[in-house]
Amino acid sequence: MGKDNKIDWHRTWQNNKYMLRLIYRACPGILIMTLFSNVLGAINSFLIGNYLYKYALNALQEGQELQRILLNVGLMFGFSVLYMIFCAFRNRYMELHRPLVSAYIQKLLQKKAAEVELACFERPDFYDTYVKAVGETADRAFTVLSNFSNMVYLVVENVALGALIVSIHPSFLFLAALPLVYTLLIAKRKNRLGYEYRTRNRAAGRKKDYVRRIFYLKDYSKEMRLTDLWRVMFRQMHESIVDLKALVKKYGFTMMWFAYFLDVLSEIVVYIGAILLAAFKTLVQKSMLLGDCFVIINSISTISRCINQSGTVFMHLDANSLYIENLRTFLDYEVQIAEDETAPAAPKMQTLQLRNVSFSYEGQQTAALQDVNLTIHAGEKIAIVGHNGAGKSTLIKLLLRLYDPSEGDILLNGENIKQYRLSSYRDLYGTVFQDYHLFATSIAENVMLRGPLTKEDEAMVEYALEQSGISEKVHRFSHGIETTVTKEFDPDGAVFSGGEAQKISIARVFAGGQEIVILDEPTSALDPIAEQEMYRNMFAACEGKTVIFISHRLSSATVADRIYLFENGKIKEQGTHTELLAQNGVYTDMWHKQADTYTEDDKSEAVKV
Ligand code: ADP
Repeated sequence: MGKDNKIDWHRTWQNNKYMLRLIYRACPGILIMTLFSNVLGAINSFLIGNYLYKYALNALQEGQELQRILLNVGLMFGFSVLYMIFCAFRNRYMELHRPLVSAYIQKLLQKKAAEVELACFERPDFYDTYVKAVGETADRAFTVLSNFSNMVYLVVENVALGALIVSIHPSFLFLAALPLVYTLLIAKRKNRLGYEYRTRNRAAGRKKDYVRRIFYLKDYSKEMRLTDLWRVMFRQMHESIVDLKALVKKYGFTMMWFAYFLDVLSEIVVYIGAILLAAFKTLVQKSMLLGDCFVIINSISTISRCINQSGTVFMHLDANSLYIENLRTFLDYEVQIAEDETAPAAPKMQTLQLRNVSFSYEGQQTAALQDVNLTIHAGEKIAIVGHNGAGKSTLIKLLLRLYDPSEGDILLNGENIKQYRLSSYRDLYGTVFQDYHLFATSIAENVMLRGPLTKEDEAMVEYALEQSGISEKVHRFSHGIETTVTKEFDPDGAVFSGGEAQKISIARVFAGGQEIVILDEPTSALDPIAEQEMYRNMFAACEGKTVIFISHRLSSATVADRIYLFENGKIKEQGTHTELLAQNGVYTDMWHKQADTYTEDDKSEAVKV
């Protein structure tokens, strides 16, 4: 972008138009009001600030009828009063409607962020574009709008003032245009420098923001108090500030000189030059009327500023374009795993099959899954086991179409899952992840993962909480299932321990009516007894449903209809618990190692499940 320092004006204009179109879609009134108010504003400024003097002084000097002069001056003031009333209305309107624009753009960004495949978040360049788009664009919309206002205003004012000055003497117009020539000469460099400065500033500021977060987020509060980590964080903050200072040093002076020369040119060369020339023409040559001389002295700075600002408007078009480019790149990104409204809905599952499936994460040399073949029938309870990094979670992510296989196919009832409407396919699954999250909303909405809830939904929440063993705790809060989770917005909010929070997340499966239940180590924060209890309830509630679960405790896998043991992305062993023990392979080895860590009671519990 802009490496050769050449501005692509076509793209620049397209980008600015793109943003104006978004603003129009968010709230057409804002754009119309801006257009209208700037045309009126420029006319008002021209009439009262410039034309009035020329007209009144020249008319008086030429000896025109006083009554007529007063009437015309009165009409101009009348226009100005009406314009001010309009401004008061416009300000109110803008104040009320501006939030609609930010909300509309944020919503577009959030919708897109929810649509793009998970892999995008692992691509640094894409993620960076996203962060820039989110961080900048809502404000940038108003910068574009304000530049558009200026543009309309300046066009009207330049035409009117230009005509006035040319009617007096064209040489003054050339003088007034000097700052514009300067602005255009430095435009490209100044914009690029500004963009470079802000981009680097943001990059350097990221570390500072991280440290700031670490200090106020609850998640880190224990380590920050109990260890010396805060010193490490302080050092990082210091490094970030040093970087930021270096940037100001590098870019600040150049920017300052640009502004300084512009001031010298505008204030000294143009203003004093015009005064001298006008005085010479009026007093020495006597070729200028008094009113014209007054207008020149009064208006030269205004017209010069206006002409120069026309250049600035173009510069801003380019500067805005650089940011809008990020927004467009992000919003125009073609989602690879996309919702296709016209695709058929996924049918009720009978079989789910992985056929020669391999998958590698972007930029990874080794495949996370290699040539995996398995078939699951409706109603089966399938356990996926294996050491860390064996590929278990990746398998789940592929089943949920968070990623598509690099090779091979996943088939639902014999048909490739890609042919079904994404949302309907994902709706087949009720999933609890190991890294689940609770949200700062009611417990009930945290369980149903939607809202507002009906009376039936609430009954379902009660049932689900009961099944996951957290109902009693929830009812100890005075607002029961309506209690807000976390104290972020409510001092009476519920704070759960790791195990309790996990039970809330598991309640989601009990509450969901899905036919396929996926549990990705959801019980890792529970002790072995609580885990057994949970699985017992879970399987009872999931009677007839298909359950695919990952568990690092093999004792939970004993009840599965089939166990797949993964190693290095491949299925190493498969069968029932008894069959696998008989194979005397990796599973048996793991079973014995783990069994040593359980008490005798745990072991007998495990077998009973
Ligand atoms: P498991 O669930 O069995 O612990 P995973 O499926 O999470 O294993 O990981 C399988 C392999 O893929 C591991 O080597 C892991 O480091 C790698 N991996 C997992 N997620 C990503 C990712 N987002 N990007 C790159 N590599 C990943």
